[in-house]
Amino acid sequence: MSSSPHALVFPYPAQGHVIPLMELSFRLLDRGFKVTFLNTDYNHERVVSAMKGKGSNQIRMASIPDGLGPEETRSDLGRLTESIAAVMPKPLENLIMEEKNKFTRFIADTNMPWAFAIAKKMAIRTVAFFPSAAGLLALFFNITKLIENGIIDENGLLKEETCQLSLGVNPVSSLHLPWNCFHDELARKAVFQTCFKTAEEFAEEIVICNSFEELEKPIFELYSPRIKPIGPLLATLRSDAASIGSFWSQERACITWLDNQLPKSVIYVAFGSFTVINHKQFHELALGLELTGRPFLWVVRPGFTEGTVDEDAYPLNFKERVLGRGHMVSWAPQQHVLQHPSIACFISHCGWNSTIEGVTNGVPFLSWPYFGDQFFDQDYICDVWKIGLGLVPDENGVIRREQIIAKVEELLGDEDIKSRSLALKGMAHKSVKEGGSSFENLNSFVDAMRGD
Ligand code: UDP
Repeated sequence: MSSSPHALVFPYPAQGHVIPLMELSFRLLDRGFKVTFLNTDYNHERVVSAMKGKGSNQIRMASIPDGLGPEETRSDLGRLTESIAAVMPKPLENLIMEEKNKFTRFIADTNMPWAFAIAKKMAIRTVAFFPSAAGLLALFFNITKLIENGIIDENGLLKEETCQLSLGVNPVSSLHLPWNCFHDELARKAVFQTCFKTAEEFAEEIVICNSFEELEKPIFELYSPRIKPIGPLLATLRSDAASIGSFWSQERACITWLDNQLPKSVIYVAFGSFTVINHKQFHELALGLELTGRPFLWVVRPGFTEGTVDEDAYPLNFKERVLGRGHMVSWAPQQHVLQHPSIACFISHCGWNSTIEGVTNGVPFLSWPYFGDQFFDQDYICDVWKIGLGLVPDENGVIRREQIIAKVEELLGDEDIKSRSLALKGMAHKSVKEGGSSFENLNSFVDAMRGD
């Protein structure tokens, strides 16, 4: 038997969970671990095909079924969460059984409490990874208190306006609690259940997360050492900077396009892996970008609009009018884009990974949240760190072109926002350098994993 410690790493099957856990895997490799990375079969195929054979030959990739048919959507989080909890436990148990004595640690996403139960049953020591803001985990730990205090009812539904965990911690509108920000009831219930179980399951454990101490100071002061930040976990902070784990293949040619733009001139527009907007909104966004008169790089992911994104989805002659100035891609190497000197600002849905990536690169935000924790992240960006401005839908639920143009101008003219963004960037980079808080946290956590 080899003496290297061997981690079995298991993300919840969504893009924003696979990417940071893949990054953590690279940091474990650097520290002498072997890593087996476990995806669903469906995501495994996507990741491997997006890598076009250029993947890591050091990380062993494994996969098990998620219980959904090949044509079924993986964007329905309620259905996905139910299906994996029903179908994945047995294959996970079998994998661990077949490779008994091989894995010394099981590192998984807190979104799958059932997976921890299996690892414990199979006597593998576990590490819990929380993929969103640490402030949210702190809220989950207080769900019972929120119910007792009448802020939410036992189903997580709204009662009062805001809750504040402690003095110094930013107040959160109960409208922005993540389970209340879903468009369908099944997803809302599934997410509330998961948050509740997360709080129960991990109340006594140390949970690691993709954040850094200086970013959510009041939370880490309250919850040290239970919530341990080890981020930012970004490919661009590794020496080879190869980003792995994308579900779509990255159009790297856009970096050459960015090379030809002026410093701090380009608006980067991307909404992560789940957001879907209607055609009316798609038109307003397209026209808003056009009318800023500025260069823009826009990720139009397959499935981004209701219905297909074909030529008809764009305003008439849009592509001709913005030729050379507007660049559309289906999936970008986002971390490398945000690191590029030509980027001026980020129109973002505020997924936690996008948030951390923007923060680490000192890029100011225009926030446009879609669902889940993105509203909580928006509050951090606009009200706590004050490194961005919010875009607000009108009474018909549409963000109009006029607002997009006006907010871009306001953001780019705001020197205070720029300097706060750069200050956070400095702190993010410092935290992962030798002697920095996340660097030390990561090393002590890895030492602990080796030690017992
Ligand atoms: N991403 C990417 N290319 C794109 C858009 C997004 O590589 O064109 C990556 C992005 O860098 C981030 C992840 O996809 O790491 C999205 O995660 P996030 O938490 O921001 O949003 P989600 O997809 O979960 O809504």
